[in-house]
Amino acid sequence: MAGEGFVLGVDLDGVVADFYGRLRVIAAEWLGRPVEELSMDGSGISQWGIGEGQDDYERLHRFALTERNLFSTMDPIPGAPQALRGLSRKGVRIRIVTHRLVFKRLHRQSVMQTVKWLDHHDIPYWDLCFLGEKSAVDADCFVDDTPEQVERLAQAGKRVIVYTNFTNTSFDSTDPNPNTDPNPNTGFDSTRARFSGAEGKVSRASNWDEVVAQVISLTDGLADVGRGP
Ligand SMILES: [Mg+2]
Repeated sequence: MAGEGFVLGVDLDGVVADFYGRLRVIAAEWLGRPVEELSMDGSGISQWGIGEGQDDYERLHRFALTERNLFSTMDPIPGAPQALRGLSRKGVRIRIVTHRLVFKRLHRQSVMQTVKWLDHHDIPYWDLCFLGEKSAVDADCFVDDTPEQVERLAQAGKRVIVYTNFTNTSFDSTDPNPNTDPNPNTGFDSTRARFSGAEGKVSRASNWDEVVAQVISLTDGLADVGRGP
């Protein structure tokens, strides 16, 4: 097949799974606040009133995962399952690369809910990688939404498509001469990890049609890839 041998490294949360949309509903319930009060306008989830520290977030995350099945109840990002099925049918090897094993004693539920969710939405994959150091994984192209991950992958010389969402809109991954301001959403100082030698390897996509188009442009003979199953 035309795309045979091409490996696409795909992040889940914020890219294939609507992590923030589901977490927002659970957080509103947990906080006892109307969901509309929890902003999705670019100010980040730190504005939701969860608290500032890792412990504050961990309490919500643990509740969401163990009591509300966070990873098996999210909606897919529109078009993602169809796009991945279309690419897979053309021989593109889908390699899921996710940093979901964040907190102790949640790994079993995190993995089981993830696999259940992938099957439930008929999302094809050959490999399923749970790790934070994504640059340790090989792929011809990655799709990710977290600025820190994008920076590290680009710094390692990887080709990255940044999936645009409210957590990264102010992050200019394509600017080779960034200013010195840390990213206001994450506090991450992008100037300390600028992708030297990786110019032209980072681009943005706002939807899965754009991701598919860019993957097609990276491979020969995939022009007839469709989104339908
Ligand atoms: Mg993500």
